[in-house]
Amino acid sequence: MPAFIDTARITVRSGDGGNGAVAFHREKYVAAGGPDGGDGGRGGDVILKVDRHMSTLMDFRYKRKYSAQNGADGTGKRCSGKDGESLTIKVPLGTVVRDTESGQIICDMSSDELFVLARGGNGGWGNKHFATPTRQVPHFAKAGLPGQTRDVVLELKLLADVGLVGFPNVGKSTLLSVVSRAHPKIANYHFTTLMPNLGVVSVGEGVSFVLADIPGIIEGAAEGAGLGHDFLRHIDRCRLLIHVVDVSGSEGRDPVEDFKAVCEELAQYNEKLASRPMLVAGNKVDIAVDRTGLEALRTYVTQRGMRFFELSAAAHQGVEELMRAAAGELAHLPPVTVYEPDYVPAPPKVDTSGELTIQHVDDTWIVEGPWLQHLMANVNFGDFESRNWFDRILRESGLFQRLESMGIQNGDTVSLYNLEFEYQR
Ligand code: GDP
Ligand code: MG
Repeated sequence: MPAFIDTARITVRSGDGGNGAVAFHREKYVAAGGPDGGDGGRGGDVILKVDRHMSTLMDFRYKRKYSAQNGADGTGKRCSGKDGESLTIKVPLGTVVRDTESGQIICDMSSDELFVLARGGNGGWGNKHFATPTRQVPHFAKAGLPGQTRDVVLELKLLADVGLVGFPNVGKSTLLSVVSRAHPKIANYHFTTLMPNLGVVSVGEGVSFVLADIPGIIEGAAEGAGLGHDFLRHIDRCRLLIHVVDVSGSEGRDPVEDFKAVCEELAQYNEKLASRPMLVAGNKVDIAVDRTGLEALRTYVTQRGMRFFELSAAAHQGVEELMRAAAGELAHLPPVTVYEPDYVPAPPKVDTSGELTIQHVDDTWIVEGPWLQHLMANVNFGDFESRNWFDRILRESGLFQRLESMGIQNGDTVSLYNLEFEYQR
């Protein structure tokens, strides 16, 4: 059986913008037609979308590279190039997307909202744009801007209200299946114990919540020794934990020690998880040889302000009471965590030492070159900081000195790909 895949690293690339065309209108008996070169098409975006039928990141195991289509070049007769097709990547609900390099969160796919992970490059302008009274014969068009490449880590963090925690074999899966048998609305997504299972628990009167069963925590799991560590991320978002402990003494275990060991694992994984509201269920009371362990655990947890429940998941005893208590707690707990993006795109490294070509047409100075193209593709002109950064790089590159030495005048137009501005000394 393939292992449960709940993290994946992928690279996505949006499409390049197509180039604008240089063309002139040609008609019989018309001596010199006007410029009619069309614009390049926009490159396709790479878009993320939740697919509620997906429950693992398995699909990303074998396919790691995803590219949207490039925009087509413009042509004559004012024909714009076709826009590149966007690529939609489907992910399971609860997928958190991080920037691989910084580990920062780019987005949390916890709703049906689409997310544009990489924006396609803009198409270049065809020469039809450049006919002005002062430049009658625009023999130039603009190249399209390149798309973006992003390297990201996908991480599945289930969207569940309540998470079951506890050692293996204490009866977590049994509890979930019992609750599901009792209520036909419950949907079990997986049947193997290696995968987390989700179930919808209804407690009547239209009150329901999602319960997640994750594979048992093994001691040392938080340090990555066992399975547990991987699976703890699934209960990161849970609003409430139900800690199931075997109190039967049938395996010679000490319930209080087991309880402490699991809490320790949670704390090592994440302090926040350890302080999550918790209900404690002492399970397998039906086969308890004596009540010493059970009572010791009850005393231990109630002294720490937690509610304790006696349970026999197998015999369906105390199950309803526990589920009702969980629903009651949830009613006044904050909603399921949605991770706020904290990703700040690092300014791309731009090496401005490469040559730029400068064309001087009438009062316009057309500047082109690979680094400039790369720079322009990475500037968000709607953002003040980003514009400032762009401005600084241009100044430091020596471009303006060069234009000065070539005779640029105040009020002339500087034309950089999809940006034109008036030159002011
Ligand atoms: P998990 O590893 O925590 O998910 O534990 P399971 O739900 O797989 O249960 C482990 C074993 O304990 C199974 O053989 C269950 O039938 C048994 N079990 C679970 N709950 C109870 C209970 O309340 N009473 C008894 N006697 N056995 C139980
Ligand atoms: Mg289980």
